[in-house]
Formats: sequence, C-alpha cells, structure tokens
Amino acid sequence: MSDRGAGDSWDGGPVAALRRIAFLLERGREDTYKVKAFRGAAAALLPMPEEQVEAAVEAGTLTDLPGVGASSARVIEEAVRGRVPERLARLEEEYGGPVTAGGQDLRAALRGDLHSHSDWSDGGSPIEEMAFTAIELGHEYLVLTDHSPRLKVARGLSAERLTRQLGVVDAVNEHLGGAGFTLLKGIEVDILDDGGLDQTDELLARLDVRVASVHSKLKMDADAMTRRMVGAIRNPRMNVLGHCTGRLVTGNRGTRPGSQFDARTVFEACAEHDVAVEINSRPERRDPPTKLLELARDTGCLFSIDSDAHAPGQLDFLGYGCERAEQAGIDPDRIVNTWPKDRLLAWANR
Ligand SMILES: [Zn+2]
Ligand SMILES: [Zn+2]
Repeated sequence: MSDRGAGDSWDGGPVAALRRIAFLLERGREDTYKVKAFRGAAAALLPMPEEQVEAAVEAGTLTDLPGVGASSARVIEEAVRGRVPERLARLEEEYGGPVTAGGQDLRAALRGDLHSHSDWSDGGSPIEEMAFTAIELGHEYLVLTDHSPRLKVARGLSAERLTRQLGVVDAVNEHLGGAGFTLLKGIEVDILDDGGLDQTDELLARLDVRVASVHSKLKMDADAMTRRMVGAIRNPRMNVLGHCTGRLVTGNRGTRPGSQFDARTVFEACAEHDVAVEINSRPERRDPPTKLLELARDTGCLFSIDSDAHAPGQLDFLGYGCERAEQAGIDPDRIVNTWPKDRLLAWANR
C-alpha cells in the first residue's frame, strides 16, 4: 500500500478512495449513516466515465450528481487531482492499524470467514461488495450466510429468495473467474423452539456451509434451551453453532444477558457431532463468554472464528475473535477456518 498521508500522491481514483473511507469507518465501528454517504457516492461514480467526473470537478458541480454530498465531493475532488484525500489520511491514522494487539499470528493463519450478511437480509451492502472486500483482506473464501425466513425483522430469506441468491453467488464467482477466492453458499439458519432448523432440508443440502443460531425466545428455561440446541446440533446439516449465548455486552442495541443452558451437554454434543462452536468476533457479542470458551476447549470442540459482518469493513473484526482464541490457548488446527477450502468443504458436507 502506498503512503496515505494527506497531500501524498494518490493514483487510485475517487471510487477507491470513497470505498476505503467507508471500509475504515465500518471497521472503526462508526455510525452506519456516516458510511452510507460514501458508499452511495462510490456507487454513483462507478458507472461514470472518468472524463465526466473530471468535468464535474472542474465545473464545481459534483454535488449535483445524485448520491454525492459535500464531504464526498471534497474526497472526489482531492482524489481526481491526484492527492490523498484529507479525510482518508485522517481515517488511516485513526483506524488503519490492527484492530487488536494480540492474536495476530492466528489472524494471519485464517483463510476465510464462515458468517457474513449482505443487503439481501439485514446487512448493509450488496453481495459483490462483501466479496470484493473479502478478496482485499486476503481471504480464500467467504461464506455468505443471510438469515432464514422466521427472522422477519432481518428480512430472512424465503426458500424462493435463497434459491435465487444461489444463482447470484454462482454469477459472482463466475465473474471473479477463480482469482484464488470463492464465495461460498451458506445460511445463518434459525434454531426453532423445538430444535428444528428454519429451512427445507433440500435447500440446506445445496449449501456449502450452515451456521445455526438461536434468535428468538432467548429466555426459555435452561432445560428446554439445552434440548433445543442439542436437537439442532444432532441435525447432520448443521456445521457451526452461532453466538451460543446470544448475549450483548455493549453497543447501540443495548446489553442483554446470555440465555441459560447446560453448556457441558451442548458442547459435548458439538464435539460428538463435529459441529464447530463459533467464536463470534463482534465486539458487542464476545460470544461465547470466556468461561464457556474454555469449557468448549476442554470438551474437545472444533471452533470457527467468524466476523458475523453486516458491512464490508466489519469483515475485519476477525482480529477480535483471534485475540480471544489465542488468550484461551486454542490450537489453530481446531479452528476450521484455518483449513484450506477443500478440507473445510469435506468437513461441512461429511
Ligand atoms: Zn445471529
Ligand atoms: Zn449473523
């Protein structure tokens, strides 16, 4: 990466500058409304011929373009004139470094990410933008795991929409032409009250990787919750147990305690059925809590360190999970996303 100080030369063009700013804001956990302006401006500029953008800069009419506001216009102008935009330089300084001090060897060992959302459900960006950013982060694979039908608040995908999405994933991969990266087909499927999974078995079978999570009735009593979770874990389609307690420890959605269940029984079932326990990297989740993480480690479970990204910049949250896994002394070979794609797929479709 070239120098990114204010006034240094910049030859990446305005779209790259706007995308990088949005990425850094998301990664720095800034409010999404701030990010939207820059992503919107990037999308507006993308199909325009270079000369047209330059002409708008010269004429001072950038903000007449739909989707381009004053701060985006400033960034575009500086980038077109070949200088690192001031806003970008400031953000590189503030948010450009590693997200954590620890876990960096493990972060380097991760080959991909098993849990991410697009704007098909409650994510903020299109599928292809998530894929491009995963490539820029050096991932070999990203599993797209939009929500299942029951989660209506998150625009969970019906069987019909998921079927359509599988075609889009094929098209994205075809467009990328290999490039050492594959967007994998997945789902974050709701674990229903009775332990069933909220999608048809036929569709689940067509996916590469399936994360299953509890999103409703988090306060059900511990025995019922244990039966519910173990029921799902026994389903041969299930690969990863997402954010097992559902707790929130910080953030704009407020906090909530984790659900109650017999963790030993649940983790023993995971170990027996080869289901990975997710280490959810989102700072507001930090799920599982440390005691449970250590219990899962001692129970012999596999793990998956996931970003659960709802925006491209959040794909870089993996560092938070890596730091926790390292502190817990988890062997990297027990973390399924250190595995090459073929090994991962063989495990997920055994
Ligand atoms: Zn979830
Ligand atoms: Zn999720």
